[in-house]
Amino acid sequence: MAIREIPYKIYLSESEIPTAWYNVRADMKNKPAPLLNPGTHQPMTAEELSQVFCADLVAQELDNDTAYIPIPQEIQDFYRMYRPSPLVRAYCLERKLQTPARIYYKFEGNNTSGSHKLNSAIAQAYYAKKQGLTGVTTETGAGQWGTALSMACAYLGLDCKVYMVKVSYEQKPFRREVMRTYGASVTPSPSMTTRVGQKILAEHPGTTGSLGCAISEAVEAAVTQPGYRYVLGSVLNQVLLHQSVIGLEAKAALDKYGVKPDIIIGCAGGGSNLGGLISPFMGEKLRGEADYRIIAVEPASCPSFTRGVYAYDFADTGMVCPLAKMYTLGSDFIPAPNHAGGLRYHGMSPILSQLYDDGLMEAVAVPQTAVFEAAELFARVEGILPAPESSHAIRAAIDEALRCKETGEEKTILFGLTGTGYFDMVAYEKYHDGLMSDEVPTDEQLALFRARLPKVD
Ligand SMILES: *Cc1c(COP(=O)(O)O)cnc(C)c1O
Repeated sequence: MAIREIPYKIYLSESEIPTAWYNVRADMKNKPAPLLNPGTHQPMTAEELSQVFCADLVAQELDNDTAYIPIPQEIQDFYRMYRPSPLVRAYCLERKLQTPARIYYKFEGNNTSGSHKLNSAIAQAYYAKKQGLTGVTTETGAGQWGTALSMACAYLGLDCKVYMVKVSYEQKPFRREVMRTYGASVTPSPSMTTRVGQKILAEHPGTTGSLGCAISEAVEAAVTQPGYRYVLGSVLNQVLLHQSVIGLEAKAALDKYGVKPDIIIGCAGGGSNLGGLISPFMGEKLRGEADYRIIAVEPASCPSFTRGVYAYDFADTGMVCPLAKMYTLGSDFIPAPNHAGGLRYHGMSPILSQLYDDGLMEAVAVPQTAVFEAAELFARVEGILPAPESSHAIRAAIDEALRCKETGEEKTILFGLTGTGYFDMVAYEKYHDGLMSDEVPTDEQLALFRARLPKVD
């Protein structure tokens, strides 16, 4: 097929939006390890999980066997407001790089929240509403998840309480106000409104907060208020399930033109967009029907896959959440203060961790100045102003495309462009002013955090 026959944007029609999510665990021989009760170290039961999460989501979290889970009609209707998302052939980037590689990206930034997170936010809010709850609590770092959840809750008429990492609350007032516009209440974390917040503030006065700490506060707020449950925007199995809509659409669009990617690339914070993008492709790989190179891209300053260990760890700083077996740097690891690129969670999705441990995917860590260099190049040729998180995937895709230029290989590369970066202009400013540096943790520093991992046998 002549290359030009493939349009710049491959759109699916509304009727081609998936009607079921794909659960990659069904095809995994080695299932992800179960969540453990932090006190007893026994697997969390559905009943225990139901105190924190809503019932339908607990069922999805624990379901390692059902391959396809129908998407309720109301969620499908919501998806129609901003899906299907475009799959773009990056002709302009290819030309700029003078590469024989063919580059495609799935763009998830076409909604007001600006990222893929809305795909799971609407699902989680829907099940909370269905259960008759009053509202949900959550944490947010940079603010994308909180924004997405606020939008979903506004749509369904649910109360939404967001604990926002204090440094972001202060430095990203626009995100905060978007959330309030959608009716959410936003509390800077750590706060005095929870016991765990009070404890963290007593031990570390003046702390600017962390994701792990905000999670602890949001969980406490959920379990101590009747009619509330906690929701999480990444890491969990249920979130990867909801995000499979990205991969299912991408695969359907590529299939229309008979295109098979050789390399699939995604940025990895907690692993939800990458897990969602790769899931149908990984399913084929697990069933022995096709093979793909799959690459997770993480920041060199928060290298969970490439320099972490595969072990049970706390999901949060306050140690109130279940233990998850995952690639982790240790639950009190916080990236250096100059780290601007997002993807700052200490752990990684248990599903992706198992797949990585089984050698079914690779990981690379990239320094943030190289990420912003790629972001700027991409913005100038493809027109979209990418989120710093997404730009990790851009960096790796460009690197693979340049490798093809050296070898002359005409590989097909697919990457996830998870969102837009309009609220990240302070980070871009630092880059433009030459004030961005690449601070990478030393082995000694990482060993200190690793030594504090919980002992689980
Ligand atoms: C949250 C976020 C990420 C990282 O989260 P994952 O769960 O790893 O996907 C990446 N890109 C954007 C734009 C985000 O908002």
